[in-house]
Amino acid sequence: MKRNTAVIHAKQFHDPVHGSHVSPIYQTSTFVLPDFDTAVYLNQHVDEGFVYTRFGSPTVREFEEKIAYLEGAEDAIAFASGLGAISMAVMAQLKAGDHLIFGDVIYGCTFALFTKIFPNYGIEYTIVDTTDVNAVAAAIKENTKVVYVETPANPTLKISDIEEIAKVVHQRNEIKLVVDSTFASPYLQNPLQLGADLVVHSATKYIGGHGNVTAGVVAGCKKDMDILRMPYLQCFGAVLDPFGAWQLMQGLKTLAIRMERHCENAMKVAEYLAAHPKISKVYYPGLATHKSHDIAKKQMRGFSGMMSADIIGGVDAVRTVLNNVKVFSLATSLGNVDSLIQHSPSMSHFDMSLAEREAVEIYEGQVRISVGVEDVDDLIADLEQALALI
Ligand code: PLP
Repeated sequence: MKRNTAVIHAKQFHDPVHGSHVSPIYQTSTFVLPDFDTAVYLNQHVDEGFVYTRFGSPTVREFEEKIAYLEGAEDAIAFASGLGAISMAVMAQLKAGDHLIFGDVIYGCTFALFTKIFPNYGIEYTIVDTTDVNAVAAAIKENTKVVYVETPANPTLKISDIEEIAKVVHQRNEIKLVVDSTFASPYLQNPLQLGADLVVHSATKYIGGHGNVTAGVVAGCKKDMDILRMPYLQCFGAVLDPFGAWQLMQGLKTLAIRMERHCENAMKVAEYLAAHPKISKVYYPGLATHKSHDIAKKQMRGFSGMMSADIIGGVDAVRTVLNNVKVFSLATSLGNVDSLIQHSPSMSHFDMSLAEREAVEIYEGQVRISVGVEDVDDLIADLEQALALI
């Protein structure tokens, strides 16, 4: 199945009882089991049937199978949020005394999880610039178990070469490469095909696409997914609810056309901002001036709808723009059909210190823009009028 067909039809389920075309929502917390022996068996084999919604449910399962298909994975497990997916995917690979390597530009709450919470459980970490494959190789230690990369990275759109990092990481069998591919969506990038072991998404973003559901998903080999379901999903309980899974599946049907429009609009907005006298730098991998434009071209099928821009005039200039946009919403999150704009230092990346942010080009005068699928002329006109007020 080709990609445009797959986002709509892959693993599609038609209700066998009433023939409902759109999958029904199995909004139930538990399942009636036919007899005692089946109950005993299914509690031990939760991937073979449905017992209790925290272990799995038909609606969530359908969503998981669709994502596994789109990522070319053996299986996938959904979670209640992107952070739920990330924490479980990484924790399942680590124990006290292990070492984690992660990229210096990642979503702020993921940064907080790795630097503020994991050390309490005896997990060491090293932060590296994952755009430098040699730096990744140099950071690997005897006890390294996970290398975690976000690409494109939030918020500066740093691009790391998944294929090259995978080669370095897999020189040692026991190390897993985990890639957060949220900014690309499964439509534009498939990290497992490039050598990663696990791919994670905040499904809240492009996968859902409409800003009405909070969810996450991890895809990888069956062995890793079985462990994630039992005991991690079962015991930590960060389960996606059936209605959320159903909403995500409605969103998925338009993933292809949405992503194409996001890419097209974002390129025009990036070019506009790059030429604007009040903007000192635009961070968008689609621009030839982007440091890793060639790597983005190699591993992505489009440059997505996310960018950041440094506004001359710092926080005061940012305040003027954010208080005056009319089509854009001043809101965190991203990947919605409608355009959003936010101030990364005080919103998505407030968990990093000023020094930590500035070391990786997250400047005080920076805004992050999630370009939606509206008419791009309206988006540019909105930015133009807001920037003119500085
Ligand atoms: N990964 C990336 C790249 C993100 O930008 C975010 C949130 O913004 C997350 C993960 C966390 O996702 P969620 O908000 O669904 O927990």
